Amino acid sequence: MSKERRYSFEFFPTKTDAGHEKLMATARVLAGYNPDFFSCTYGAGGSTRDRTINTVLQLDSEVKVPTAPHLSCVGDSKAELRALLKQYQEAGIKRIVALRGDLPSGMGMASGELRHANDLVSFIREETGSHFHIEVAAYPEMHPQARNFEDDVANFVRKAKAGADSAITQYFFNADSYFYFVERVRKMGVTIPIVPGIMPITNYSKLARFSDACGAEIPRWIRKQLEAYADDIESIQSYGEQVISEMCDRLLQGGAPGLHFYTLNQAEPSLAIWNNLKLPR
Ligand code: FAD
Repeated sequence: MSKERRYSFEFFPTKTDAGHEKLMATARVLAGYNPDFFSCTYGAGGSTRDRTINTVLQLDSEVKVPTAPHLSCVGDSKAELRALLKQYQEAGIKRIVALRGDLPSGMGMASGELRHANDLVSFIREETGSHFHIEVAAYPEMHPQARNFEDDVANFVRKAKAGADSAITQYFFNADSYFYFVERVRKMGVTIPIVPGIMPITNYSKLARFSDACGAEIPRWIRKQLEAYADDIESIQSYGEQVISEMCDRLLQGGAPGLHFYTLNQAEPSLAIWNNLKLPR
């Protein structure tokens, strides 16, 4: 397996000190696997602004893995975004994940001066030139609000043309949807790496809820098997590990340029897949 591929782990900033300690402990374990970078999510509308900043800076400087903040534009003004970019730039952060974001329920209608992620990518380039490596989101199974697949593909192309350097996908359980999406955007002249986002399966009911919301389809054959395990968490995890490892193997064999793990702040589920694949340390 070539080390030229890139591997990364994503965290979310926590609300409690205990949660933060767990996140840092997880990050220290994962740092031992020499990932190319960590990333840390951002609550749209600035709902996690300080927690995201603190987590990113701590992971970057203490755990010593280059860490990319996620940044979303709904609900934040240009002045707020400019201030965040400046802070990250001054702290030596070199990579950023640029998103539109989803406002948490209860935060009202989307506001902010930038409406779509392509506007944010352009804004980051205008403000900071080539300082940041900019990641954007890709949706092999279509963003849930897109009118149709072709519109969503056109949106992805717009983000790439606005200056994105690479992309991370929403998670999916069907490798063919990834290959089809990549082929489709390559035909439209997009050459940036598109890295599959990988969601380990650990808990069926949470996964089903989350997948409904973000538009990721759980294929019937996986869903039925997970449902059959009911509360047998051990079987769900071991089946999930096998299914996701096989999918990742297919993705890498088929030319995926790396993997990005949605860790949900846990090391073991991602590492089980990592070890099955015999990825480089
Ligand atoms: P966009 O690319 O702007 O697309 C959003 C929708 O608008 C799509 O339906 C698209 O087709 C349409 N669209 C885009 N541009 C245009 C245009 N110019 N005209 C008309 N329609 C357009 N959310 C968070 O809140 N915080 C996070 O940290 C976070 N991290 C994420 C990380 C990854 C890897 C991924 C895949 C998603 C993440 N999300 C996060 C979720 C993301 O914010 C949501 O999916 C959001 O709804 C869309 O964000 P986007 O950047 O893909 O938006």
